[in-house]
Amino acid sequence: MQQFLNSLLQQRKQDNLYRVRQTHSSIQSPILLINGQNYLSFSSNDYLGLASDDRLKIAWQDGAEKYGIGSGGSHLITGHTIVHQVLEQELALYTKRERALLFSTGYMANFGVITALLGRHDAVFLDRLNHASLVDAAKLSSAKMYRYSDMQTLNSLLSKSIAKHKLIITDGVFSMDGKIANLPKIVELAKAYNAWVMVDDAHGLGVIGKTGRGTVELYNFGVTEVPILMGTLGKAFGVFGAFIAGSELLIETLIQSARSYIYTTALPPALIESVRKSLTIVIEENWRQKQLQELVAYFRKQAISLPLMESCTPIQPIILGDSVTTLTVSKELYKRGIIVTAIRPPTVSKGTARLRITLSILHTKNQIDRLIEALMEIIPNH
Ligand SMILES: *Cc1c(COP(=O)(O)O)cnc(C)c1O
Repeated sequence: MQQFLNSLLQQRKQDNLYRVRQTHSSIQSPILLINGQNYLSFSSNDYLGLASDDRLKIAWQDGAEKYGIGSGGSHLITGHTIVHQVLEQELALYTKRERALLFSTGYMANFGVITALLGRHDAVFLDRLNHASLVDAAKLSSAKMYRYSDMQTLNSLLSKSIAKHKLIITDGVFSMDGKIANLPKIVELAKAYNAWVMVDDAHGLGVIGKTGRGTVELYNFGVTEVPILMGTLGKAFGVFGAFIAGSELLIETLIQSARSYIYTTALPPALIESVRKSLTIVIEENWRQKQLQELVAYFRKQAISLPLMESCTPIQPIILGDSVTTLTVSKELYKRGIIVTAIRPPTVSKGTARLRITLSILHTKNQIDRLIEALMEIIPNH
């Protein structure tokens, strides 16, 4: 086995796809302490700057005092507490849906809902840019899987499908592009071909839309147009966990048959208490979304001469093409004390390796200037 593993890893290195982990030892913020040195990071998903908020810490501590640390079991045994119950109600209200169901991670939420709803007579249609967790879940369901890269393809795939149930799944905001899905067209096609729609709004929820309620709010779609909504709690909400929101019947079905809901330990109640605090802050402190939008606009104005993508979200990738160049630029930035992750295949398609810059309201304009100056110097003939 050792020999086999060694050859696998060698191949990865040769293909410039070898990944290493960055170990830091500071509080979650744009400044990360690595090996005794401070780095300016543009790679976290803490868009609203809540991951280290004192009020969340206090909620966590109070929750630990009141309920202990572990949840003690799965939801269907003894892990489901009053705080899980209340957060689910609050998330249902927030997303304007009848009910919501908590999952331990977004990965598990996607797995649970897709495998619970689809069987071998069904078909699932995924955008080529969809998050890996959606692709994995679709593969593990026994439904026939189709990928589309534009609306025309989706239309033609749907028109040919003879599946019993059809489910179209899209990211709300594509995690590696920052682009927002063409939901109006998806909803129109779903209506025409009697398909269901699921939106994974991991990067949209709390961030976009008039009051930050995500992609569905941006397009003014309710549970009729988008019956399945997935949201995560570890990105804009700054904590951990995920949920599915939808109709009473959808949630009851998931409680009965979503395997990644049933066969796993419920989230710690203290963690849930800090999510509840975070949700209150996201709703009440609407200025956070506005400040983020301002920062995004500032970044795009300053970076105008760089190969930016069409994105109005805090995900602002710079496409460099091949993995070697992208990795070199990322390493050069690191030498200058700046962290921007190089995203390479297979996470993105071949030839579209990129620097993935994400902005948080904790970034200052000076820090953004520093990043852009460094990029201008390093990126070959921008
Ligand atoms: C991060 C992410 C997930 C996974 O969520 P976790 O809670 O981190 O497991 C799922 N979908 C998308 C689009 C994501 O960006």
